[in-house]
This record gives sequence, C-alpha cells and structure tokens, in this order.
Amino acid sequence: MDKDIKNKPPVVVVLGHVDHGKSSLLEAVKDLKITEKESGGITQHIGSYFIEHQGKGITFIDTPGHEAFSAMRSRGAKVADIGVLVVAADEGVKEQTKEAIEHLLKAEMPFIIAINKMDKKDADANKAKQALSMENVFVESFGGSIPSVEISAKTGEGVEGLLEMILLVAEMEDLVCDPKISATGVIIETQLDNRRGVSVNVIIKNGTLKKGDIISSNSAFGRIKTIHNCTGEEIEEAGPSYPVSINGVKGSPQVGDSFVVCKSIDEARKSVNFEQLLENIYETGNQNEFPIIIKADTNGSLEAIKNKINSLSRDSITVKIISSGVGEVNENDVCLARTANAGIFIFRVKVSNLAKSIALRDEVDIKNFDIIYELFDSVKEEGSKRIKPEKIKTEIGKFKIMAVFRTKGNRQILGGKIIKGEATKGCIVEIYKGEEKMGEGKIINIKKGEKDIEKAPIKEEVGLLFEGSGRAEEGDHLLISKEEEITGSL
Ligand code: GDP
Repeated sequence: MDKDIKNKPPVVVVLGHVDHGKSSLLEAVKDLKITEKESGGITQHIGSYFIEHQGKGITFIDTPGHEAFSAMRSRGAKVADIGVLVVAADEGVKEQTKEAIEHLLKAEMPFIIAINKMDKKDADANKAKQALSMENVFVESFGGSIPSVEISAKTGEGVEGLLEMILLVAEMEDLVCDPKISATGVIIETQLDNRRGVSVNVIIKNGTLKKGDIISSNSAFGRIKTIHNCTGEEIEEAGPSYPVSINGVKGSPQVGDSFVVCKSIDEARKSVNFEQLLENIYETGNQNEFPIIIKADTNGSLEAIKNKINSLSRDSITVKIISSGVGEVNENDVCLARTANAGIFIFRVKVSNLAKSIALRDEVDIKNFDIIYELFDSVKEEGSKRIKPEKIKTEIGKFKIMAVFRTKGNRQILGGKIIKGEATKGCIVEIYKGEEKMGEGKIINIKKGEKDIEKAPIKEEVGLLFEGSGRAEEGDHLLISKEEEITGSL
C-alpha cells in the first residue's frame, strides 16, 4: 500500500421494513458509543454520525428509510459502503424488506443482516433466515455468504457484534482512501438554521476537507466558513468518511450531490448548473420577460401547463419558463426564483420544509393550484403586473407668455393667456421659442388673480407656477400636455 493510502472507515446505511427497528438500532449504537462527555449531552443531528469501535471508525447515515437511500442513489452518488438490513425476528421478511434487498442488490452493495428484536418471546431467528433464503438472500448458516448478526436494539445485546461484523466486511471490501488529497464528498442533508443560515451536512468520500476550502457541486458552491462534527464541536478539518456540517455554501445544495474542492470561487461558481442557467437567462432575456418556475404532480399535467403557457405572449412581455419539473418544490427552485426574480407556480405538489423557510425568508411567492386554468390565469395576472405601463402624452392646450414675474431656482411665475385648449394643475409643459424647444417641466400651481385654481379654460389670463428645466421668456409659448399611464395585460 502506498504510504498515503489508508483504510477508509466504512459508511453504513441502515435499511429494513418499517418498525423493524432501524431508528432504534441507530440510537443504540449512538448510546453505546457517543458518550455524554463528548457531546455535552447533546448529539447534533447532522444526518450521519461517526463512532469508533476497537480503534476503528464507522460512519452511520442517520436517516433510515429507503427514500433517503434512493434520493442519494438517484443522483449517482455512492455514499454508503455497507448496508445493514434490519429484519425483526418476530415478523421476518416483509414488503419493505424485499424492497431493501432489491435496492442493495442493484447498488451492488455488500450488506449484513441484523436480526433484531431477539429479546422478544416470539423471536425466531431461524424462521427469519429461512424467509430471507426465499428471497435468494442466503446467510452464512444457511449455506450462503451473507453475514448475519442477532441483536436487540432495545437491550443493546449483540450491537457490539454487529459493529465488529461491519469492520470485518469493510476490511474484506478493502475500502481505501488518501487523506492527503483535497476532499470530495456527498451532500446528505441541508438544514436551515436561524443562527448559522444554511448548513450543509456532508460525508467526505475521500481526502481531507479544511476550513477555508472552496467547494462546488452541481447545485451549490462557496468557501467553507465553519466545520462542525456530529457532537457539535467546531473542527478545522475532516478526513475520509467523516460526517460534518459545513457553513458558507451558497446556492441550493441538493441531497445526493457530489462536491469537489476547487482552486477559486470563479471556478467553483462555473460548475453550478443553476448559475449557468441564470447566465443564460440574462444573456437571452431582457427586462420584458416574466420568468417562471413550474412544478407539477405528473408529466402529463406539466406538459399541459407548459403548452398553454407557451402560447402566452405579448410584444411587451414574454412568459419564460426557466425551470420546470415533476415533484415537490425544493430549495433549489426557491433559490433560482429569488435570483431570477421569478414566480413559482405549482400544481398539486407540496413544498419541502426547507424550501418553505427559504421562501418565507426571501419573500419568494409560491402559488399553489389544483386546477390548471386557475394556474394559467394566475400566470397571466402576475405577468400583467410586470408589464411596464405605457405613458401616453396628449396635448391639451397652449399658453402664451406675456410676462415673467419671478424666477427662482428651477421655478418661474409666468403670466399669460390660454390661447388653445386648457391648462390644469400638474400638467406637463414644454417651452417653445417659435419652433425651438427651450425646456420642459410641470405646472405646479395656477392663479387667477389672488385665487388658486385647478384649471384654466381657453382665453383665461392666469399666472402659472412652472417648475422644470430651461428659462421661459416673454413671447414664448408653453405647450401643455397630460400624460396617462396605460397598463397592459397578457
Ligand atoms: P423503524 O421504523 O424501523 O425505525 O423502527 P423503530 O426503531 O422505530 O422501532 C419500532 C418499534 O419497535 C419501537 O416501538 C421500538 O421500541 C421497537 N423495537 C425496536 N427494536 C426493538 C428490539 O430490539 N426489541 C424490542 N422488544 N422492541 C424493539
């Protein structure tokens, strides 16, 4: 073995049927190995935890269940090295046991059977093993090669034996790592913490992650400000298989995404997909686009919504779908919406808790619908709000200046006569000397004798308080206009 290559602590995922004791096993290992002294009585939840047994490390992914496992695998990241399949000795193989076996075989992951609840009166390990052999899982005592350990997560009986077996399997698998290289890892969870902002829980796959490192994944990037371990301690660096919670990452970290360490922030930023997506938006887009994100329950409804929305367009604004997909709204969608100032429209899907918190914090509006045409109407309504009102100027009168009474700053009191149309307070005016425009501004006030009036009709002789640019002189004209804003709609 090269001097820098070392044995890697195994990363373990616990699978099995509901209520067969996955969480209890994870708790039992924690109770056994993470002493109160270490954690100050509090174990931080960072999605996984690290223990030592006989001087060797093991990392347990702390989110039992197949969904987490599938989410990680769906992104192509192989986080776990070894699986522990929990089978209750009283119930044996159930539906999700079969599902878990399928997952493990597909992932080609070595696994150990933990026959749990051995303390129960009706526990029958042999029956459970027999049932497993019906699923082509042959444990050692049944002529196969899959190791099995009998345990009780409740009493802690056999748990040490399971840990030993995990280490043995790890040794046989020859899991190696190089702590000298810069880190690669996998995001296993994100948490929104009011104090620390978004914390990203990761497991280091290889190398060593250090404070100050710049990391990037498809969904997030940034310079690491702090690293905490599972006992809540702030640490400077973390080696292979070690689970840590990091801060300083921008973007929308996705569970299962792999990350690498980069040389510079620029390099890191480039690898984030949504940043690229945004660049595209800004390249092709202009102020007259209404960017939207759509999430729907099925591909069918998503296509129907997209087709309808693509037909929506006016010269003044275009609705642009910058992202769409099937499934719940996640933090990625919200961050994208925030950065692109987009609207999120969803059809019969939920919003993840983290996405909800970020949306609340960043005031990102998520509009939820059960009926497609209502969603469509809402897109129209919101899009219309973004259409800049058009200003239309209409000439309403003409004023001949007969005297300039006073000039102060950008204001002038002009005496004269309405020779066409009328003048109203607040109207806009342009000063003309013959054909030449000399300035423009507004009518702030109109006086008839000593009295303030709102409007002066044709032939009326009045004093106008003008404010604006340019100087009016005796003999000039004011062209009086009113401006109206016309709001458009999609
Ligand atoms: P999970 O759904 O697989 O995570 O199962 P849990 O760990 O939540 O356990 C389900 C139930 O089984 C709980 O009431 C546990 O207290 C109980 N349980 C778990 N392990 C054991 C065990 O070894 N012995 C006994 N008697 N009960 C157990």
